[in-house]
Amino acid sequence: MGTKHCIAFPFARTAIYFSLRAKSFPEGTEIIMPPISIKGILDVVLDLKLKPVFVDIDPDTLCFDLSELKNSITNETKAILITYLYGIVPNMVDLINVCRKNGLFIIEDYSHNLNATYNNKKLGTFGDVGIYSSSSVKTLDTFGGGLLITNNSELFFLLKKNSDFLQLPPRRILIKKIITNLIRNFATNKIVFTLFTFPLLKLLKIIFPEDIMKYSGTRDKDPIDNLPLECFYSFTSLQAKIGSHMLEGVLQLDEIRINNVEKIKSVVKSIETPSGHINGKNVYWQFIFYFKDVKKGQDYLHANKVDTSTTSLVNISSLRSYSYQGETPKANKLYNTGLFIPAYPGLKNSNIKHITDVLTNLSINNQEEPN
Ligand SMILES: *Cc1c(COP(=O)(O)O)cnc(C)c1O
Repeated sequence: MGTKHCIAFPFARTAIYFSLRAKSFPEGTEIIMPPISIKGILDVVLDLKLKPVFVDIDPDTLCFDLSELKNSITNETKAILITYLYGIVPNMVDLINVCRKNGLFIIEDYSHNLNATYNNKKLGTFGDVGIYSSSSVKTLDTFGGGLLITNNSELFFLLKKNSDFLQLPPRRILIKKIITNLIRNFATNKIVFTLFTFPLLKLLKIIFPEDIMKYSGTRDKDPIDNLPLECFYSFTSLQAKIGSHMLEGVLQLDEIRINNVEKIKSVVKSIETPSGHINGKNVYWQFIFYFKDVKKGQDYLHANKVDTSTTSLVNISSLRSYSYQGETPKANKLYNTGLFIPAYPGLKNSNIKHITDVLTNLSINNQEEPN
């Protein structure tokens, strides 16, 4: 990433936890948070007794709406967790300017945007620390991991001490992750997926329609009393080895995926999809488009042999069981109506052609029916 320092933690949430703890913010300090992320990140912020302030997103960049961001910053606001979504790049100059003018400590969660750039500068290197989750389904997957980068040497030495204290995980934890991945890879192998997994998903859809609407199913949404022990095991040398080995391949796969998305976008013009800022290079971790009637969209795509679902992340600004709730209608729209379209590097040209045909028909059918 071109930064001076890097530390590996077991999870992105652990890296965020130690970064925020290093700043010793007093209880109740406000931190600007994305309305959509994983719940574990909200849990660490609350564990540190910070006050999350959710700012809605811009539907075209999937990152903070800048005017809402300016309006949300108070004298109590000391930090911001910028979270890029789906590989889309926002206006980094304006975003960072707002944060710096207000003296905010900037954490960038670039888990979806590895190798994305703005004016040729990598996302993750604009703030004080950049954090990447190398967990399953991310483009660089090391059986879990929270890779932290920074140019701030003082902060680095503090965080390095924290990471040196972490104990090695029991072997079974890693083995469990590896087995889970093997099963997932098997189930999504082309032939197995076509003959077995996809028909099974369609069947499950009849029984659990809600669960199949979400990529990777519905997730736990309740608050926790203590951060789980699992968050505080160290990253292992085995994971580091796997990651180093994969690094180069990731760039190549990114290019193929970006190319696939561009092919689809150039043919299917009538779908509404976030486009990001003009100076950004999107990496499309997952290629999503907004479709008003998601149920109908998913049924149509499934009937035509294209797998689709809405986001696997959580709408953390509106979790009922937490006391902090924000009004984030644009994030809700993404959460509820953002369907993602396969654009995996493994797709053949004929698959891409099929996907574009089905999407074209879907948007034509949709225009004909006013409701
Ligand atoms: C997957 C993901 C994470 C994962 O965090 P872990 O703590 O490593 O599980 C974090 N942030 C975003 C935006 C993600 O999509």
